[in-house]
Amino acid sequence: ERSNSHPAIEIKDLTFSYPNGKKIFDHFNLVIREGEKVTLKGRTGAGKSTLFKLILGLYAPQGGSIKILGQDVQTLPDSQRRQLYGCVEQTFQLIDGNLGEQISLRDPAISDQEIWQALETVGLADAVKKLPDGLNSHVTNATFSHGQMQLLTIARAISAKPRLLLFDEITANLDRETENRLLKALERASQGKTLLSISHRTELLKDGRIIEIKRNNHN
Ligand code: ATP
Ligand code: MG
Repeated sequence: ERSNSHPAIEIKDLTFSYPNGKKIFDHFNLVIREGEKVTLKGRTGAGKSTLFKLILGLYAPQGGSIKILGQDVQTLPDSQRRQLYGCVEQTFQLIDGNLGEQISLRDPAISDQEIWQALETVGLADAVKKLPDGLNSHVTNATFSHGQMQLLTIARAISAKPRLLLFDEITANLDRETENRLLKALERASQGKTLLSISHRTELLKDGRIIEIKRNNHN
């Protein structure tokens, strides 16, 4: 059951290493309350993206637990994942489907209205309205600019209205203007939600908490 008494993310005594690798997390603890904006920083190879994958339940830790709103990510049914968290990925992976499906990933619980709302939030609604077939448009890598594709990754992540947004730094290969547009969209998209982002550049986040990930974390 969802309850306000549960933190958005609760990591307890996390121990993890890749097969044959050094320990990346050693009894690592982290609690993020609902609505918090937290940035993970740390050197390359420190384990930031690994922590995201653990939070997404893609790897099983050797020790400890990770809970999202009180639910262990290891036992979370797939059907619930998209309502709990959305992950803004570094590149937009096109699926075989029309524009609406690119965003909903064919989740029947997501209505066209919700797709438009997601597009509105990231500032792409006008661009999509200009396409002759709107949400039914066939999408190729040439339909949108690189920056617009990044905005689509945010629209996809928020279309199921998750309470938690995970954002792995995607501003690396963008020009200033596109980067600013993206950060504004992310700010709008994460309003009222918990935001956990990875960034090498902490100035990207005006307010919120910064957590440093060091290799072999003990904190
Ligand atoms: P960056 O800032 O460069 O993105 P990061 O903090 O996200 O770095 P991770 O990608 O989490 O770092 O990697 C942490 C460590 O785990 C690195 O030493 C990396 O080489 C190793 N690693 C990452 N993925 C795997 C994998 N699939 N198998 C084995 N080792 C891996
Ligand atoms: Mg990384």
